[in-house]
Amino acid sequence: MGKLLIVGTVAFDAIETPFGKTDKILGGAATFIGLAASQFEVQSAIVSVVGDDFPQEYINLFKDKNIDTSALEVVEGGKTFFWKGKYHNDLNSRDTLVTELNTLADFNPVVPTNFKDSDVVMLGNLHPGIQMSVINQMDKRPKLIILDTMNFWMNNTLEELTQVIKYTDVITINDEEARQLTNEYSLVKAAEAIQKMGPKYVVIKKGEHGALLFNEENVFFAPALPLEEVFDPTGAGDTFAGGFAGHLATTGNTSFNNIKNAVIHGSNLASFCVERFGTQRMIDLHKNEVNKRFHQFKALTQFDIELQ
Ligand code: AMP
Repeated sequence: MGKLLIVGTVAFDAIETPFGKTDKILGGAATFIGLAASQFEVQSAIVSVVGDDFPQEYINLFKDKNIDTSALEVVEGGKTFFWKGKYHNDLNSRDTLVTELNTLADFNPVVPTNFKDSDVVMLGNLHPGIQMSVINQMDKRPKLIILDTMNFWMNNTLEELTQVIKYTDVITINDEEARQLTNEYSLVKAAEAIQKMGPKYVVIKKGEHGALLFNEENVFFAPALPLEEVFDPTGAGDTFAGGFAGHLATTGNTSFNNIKNAVIHGSNLASFCVERFGTQRMIDLHKNEVNKRFHQFKALTQFDIELQ
């Protein structure tokens, strides 16, 4: 069984979409990554921090999903990271209204000894200094280091982020962030520029318009499944990353073909995430639903055409 180490926020989110509003619910990059990766035969652990306002039932939920929480620090008297966002009518864009780092502001991550030899390290969205510290604690170079980040860290900690990017094999980033990071409007040029910064593989997420995978001269595209019901896109990017990393940690194969399959796994799981508010859909998700949707995915992208 492959080992997957996950770092990222474990958070309270308050979300507003055209379909409704939530107060503080379970969220965070590592949360969505962990829930998505729990769909695979993989041993995973979350490195993160919360305050003592974080309910024990959420920690139990991680345990129930076989996610090791020994490196999820609970700070006595501290407050959990809080994010508030509001989506526009198209659901593809959003405004961040509040980001409170709270306990994350001075978190020193400690990688559990039995995860220092993880096959895959998924550096989910959080301070790049913390991401770097996790890389430095590994006993040996993992087979794959995957990085996800967002504009908040580009705006506030660009130098440290650039350092981490150098060490990563795969970056997953959304289209606007790829443009911001490289000052290139064309996503092809942006992907080329990012590959020069370090990662051999660049995945550009385009929300409901799917995801692009770039590696040297190879390009692959996976659509997002057209869905009848989209309630809340929060966590779709992290769920994609969790499915992507979960598949690669389980198979241990880092060929371009298998990375393409990882993109499909990520896209498939992300299509569920958006169907309910927050983590709800991912918590209740069953394997047979995932498998069924794979067939829809295949049918959506398969065609037979005679080429001259
Ligand atoms: P996504 O929709 O995949 O981009 O991720 C949304 C999740 O990211 C939410 O659950 C938030 O708690 C978390 N989040 C929002 N802002 C940040 C940030 N600056 N750093 C880390 N995680 C964040």
